[in-house]
Amino acid sequence: LPEPLASQNDPSHAAHPSPLWHAFADMSKVPETRVVLERGQGVWIWDTEGRRYLDSTAGLWYCALGWGREELAEAAAAQMRKLATYSTFGDMTTNTTLELAERVASLSPMPNTAVFLTSGGSESIDTAAKIVRRYWNVLGRPEKRVIVSRGMAYHGIAGFGTSIAGIPANREGYGPLIEDVHVVAADSTQELEKLFAERGHEIAAFFGEPVRGAGGVYPPVAGYWPEVERLCRQYDVLLVCDEVITGFGRLGAWFGSAHYGIQPDIITGAKAVTSGYQPLGVVLCNERVQEPFYSGKAGVLRHGYTYSGHATACAVGLRNLEIMETERVLERGAEAAKAMVELFEPLRRHSMVKQVRTEGLLAGIEICEDARKRVPNVVDQVLWQARKNEVMTRNMLGHSLQFSPAFIITQEELRFYVERMLTSLDAVA
Ligand code: PLP
Repeated sequence: LPEPLASQNDPSHAAHPSPLWHAFADMSKVPETRVVLERGQGVWIWDTEGRRYLDSTAGLWYCALGWGREELAEAAAAQMRKLATYSTFGDMTTNTTLELAERVASLSPMPNTAVFLTSGGSESIDTAAKIVRRYWNVLGRPEKRVIVSRGMAYHGIAGFGTSIAGIPANREGYGPLIEDVHVVAADSTQELEKLFAERGHEIAAFFGEPVRGAGGVYPPVAGYWPEVERLCRQYDVLLVCDEVITGFGRLGAWFGSAHYGIQPDIITGAKAVTSGYQPLGVVLCNERVQEPFYSGKAGVLRHGYTYSGHATACAVGLRNLEIMETERVLERGAEAAKAMVELFEPLRRHSMVKQVRTEGLLAGIEICEDARKRVPNVVDQVLWQARKNEVMTRNMLGHSLQFSPAFIITQEELRFYVERMLTSLDAVA
């Protein structure tokens, strides 16, 4: 088997184990392959040994602008010097927070959007889930509390997000989770229609990612989203688009729902809103959803986080969105996406590859079943080879590799990626 890339720089090796418990990791294996990263510029990152990698995933799907943008560091520093934050609890906030909400609302596909702020995707999902349940409760229909989600969906790891997870492994082993949830087959609007017809009176909302991301990058089948929107309207089910990955430009439009021509009731977002330079999540609500909460009917929504509306995160978000507009970053991402489809042709044809799924600047490169049977941990083996070949990539569920670079990736960098991935696949084949 190819040797994993051991980090000689890793102080946790053998004698000095690090106390750091990594996220989504088997801690019995992490010290063998840990990479300690130090700096970044554009789509490139460097580890503490000075090794360079093309960051083909933009961190965890978030670094839309690329690394090393001084303006974002300056925006954070300027805000911290004035007032680092003040929580948006009760009637307090900061001007920076108000401005960020205004800017996000102006990009929303829904008119007169209200923006609830969190520190990330999981908090945004739990906020959306609590808002939809509370919405029906206040309207005198407490029986409408079932949340429907899609197979292989990823909605973060907080209480509701874990409970509605479509990836079974993410739900297992925690005992009873939140009740009244239901997972449907990802692309079947027939199953959804049958469920809505039978149980629509109990269903609060349908949650879905415009493109299922962490589940392996699966774009929807043609016509899927307009049909889901139609069914939600027909059966009076709120439509929640989880745009933690697709929000803020990944598919070329500001939101994936706009890309697919639909108007959800709620959109959750995070990641690219700050390019990941600060943790920030958003929950966009249309007029219908706001109404009971803004009219006084619902009283206080007893929900929110210490860092809801964190001023430094908002300052970075504002600067990030401003740069995205002034530097035509979405357009550049869309151009890169177009080039990607063509440049990925040799990857598609590689004997190790079953399928390359693309949508916007997203791709899932699935390794063929034969190789998965033949080579133990084959996706990790490719990933370790890729590291040796200066590409940082990510294993999705043991079958596919993630591609979700910064929107500013150049054609030359796309070619570098393809070349190095072909070499890495050859080494494992
Ligand atoms: N929803 C989707 C679609 C995601 O992809 C993610 C994270 O990748 C989340 C929610 C959770 O976001 P976070 O990790 O910021 O809590």
